[in-house]
Amino acid sequence: MISESEALERILAAVVPTQAMPETLFASLDRYAAQDVTATVPIPAFDQSSMDGYALFAAESGSKTALRVTGEQPAGLDRRLKLEPGCAIRIFTGAPLPAGADAVIMQEDVRRDDDHIVCQEPFIAGENIRRAGADLCPGQFVMKAGEKITPGRMAVLASQGLDQINAHALPRIAVLSTGDELVHPGAGPLQAGQIYNTNGLMLRGMLARLGIRESTHVHCRDDLQATVETLRRLMDEYDVVLLSGGVSVGDHDQIKPALKQLSIEPQLWRVRVKPGKPFLFASRRESRVTHLFGLPGNPVSSFVTFLLFVRPALLKIMGASDMAVKQRWLPAVAGTALENPGDRPHYLRGTLTNGQFMPFGLQQSHALLSLSRSEALLRLEAGQSLQAGEMAQAWLLD
Ligand code: AMP
Ligand code: MG
Repeated sequence: MISESEALERILAAVVPTQAMPETLFASLDRYAAQDVTATVPIPAFDQSSMDGYALFAAESGSKTALRVTGEQPAGLDRRLKLEPGCAIRIFTGAPLPAGADAVIMQEDVRRDDDHIVCQEPFIAGENIRRAGADLCPGQFVMKAGEKITPGRMAVLASQGLDQINAHALPRIAVLSTGDELVHPGAGPLQAGQIYNTNGLMLRGMLARLGIRESTHVHCRDDLQATVETLRRLMDEYDVVLLSGGVSVGDHDQIKPALKQLSIEPQLWRVRVKPGKPFLFASRRESRVTHLFGLPGNPVSSFVTFLLFVRPALLKIMGASDMAVKQRWLPAVAGTALENPGDRPHYLRGTLTNGQFMPFGLQQSHALLSLSRSEALLRLEAGQSLQAGEMAQAWLLD
C-alpha cells in the first residue's frame, strides 16, 4: 500500500495536458486557457460619466448660479461636444465626457429650470467620472495560460473584442460501472439481490462539475471476457476510463485479471486511505495514451478517491496550471470529539456550519444518505483524535 501523496505524485507524473485549439468564448467556459492574453483596448475605453446628470466645471458647481444647458451627450457615438464656462451638458451613464468638463453632477443634485440648472451642492473635480484605462490599460495582463475561463474572464476577454481563445481540449471520458448486481435507475423494480447503479451518475456529475459535461456511460458484468473486451474497446476510444467496482481481490473482481490479459501493468493499486483503499491507476501507452482510474465500488469510496486522485489528474489533463488547481481545504473546528483509531487517514462526511464540522449519519463507505447530506469532508490522520473545539482541515463540497 502506498500513501496518498505518493499515489498522487505518480498519477500527476503520468498525465499531460491535452492539445489546445481556438474556441468561441462561450464554448470555452470552464475550460483552461492555453495562451496569455494582454489588453489592447483600455477599460474604460474613454473618459465617461458614471451617472445620469450634467457635465460641468467642478469649480462652478458651488456658486449656486444658474448654468446654461447647451447640449446633450447620450451613451453611444461621441458628439464631440465642448463645455463652455457658465454652461453644463446633459449626460448619461457611459456617455463620453465633453471636452473641458471635469465633473458630472447627478441629476438628483440639481434643480432644473428650462434650459438652466442650479447645483444644490458644490462638487469636486473628478466626481462621477470614469477615466480611460483606470481599470485596464493596453499592455496590461488580462489572463494567463492555465487559468480557468469563468464567466467574469469571458467578459474581460470580450471587452478586448475577442470572440475566441485558445483553450485546452476536454478529454474524452468513459465511465464504466462494473457489477452483476447493478440495475440502471429507471429500468424497473429490483429483483432480490440487485441494487440501482448510483456510481455511474454520481461520477458523471462530478465530471460535469469540473467542466466535462459530456461523458459516456457503460455497464459491464463481472465476467472476465466481457471485462477484457469492454476495457479494450473503451481504451481504444477514450482518453480516460473511469471505472467503479471490481478493483479489489474478490473472486468476482475482474479488473486486475482483465488488465493482466491486456498486458497492462497498474502503476499503483491500493492506497493508504479510508475510504478508498482498493484504488487503482493504470496507463496504456500505445499509439495513444489512455489512463484508467479504478475506483472502488462503494459509493463513498468512489466519491472520495475521485476528489483525491481523479480531480487533480483531470485538471492537469485539462491544462490547469498549478495555481488554478484550487484546493478546497478550509480550517474547520470539530463540533464534537472525533477519533480515527485506524492506520489510514480517514475522510469523515458531515455538515459545516459557521466553520464547525459535525459528522452526519453513518460513516461507512456504502452510506449514501450521509454522503448526500454532507457539506464537507474532514480529514483525520491515522490514530488522530480531536476534542470538540479543536481545529482540523475540511474539504468544502458543493
Ligand atoms: P466492488 O468494489 O465491486 O467489490 O463493490 C463494492 C460495493 O459497492 C458492493 O456493495 C457493490 O454492490 C457496490 N457497488 C459497486 N458498483 C456500484 C455502483 N455503480 N453503484 C452503487 N453501488 C455499487
Ligand atoms: Mg463488484
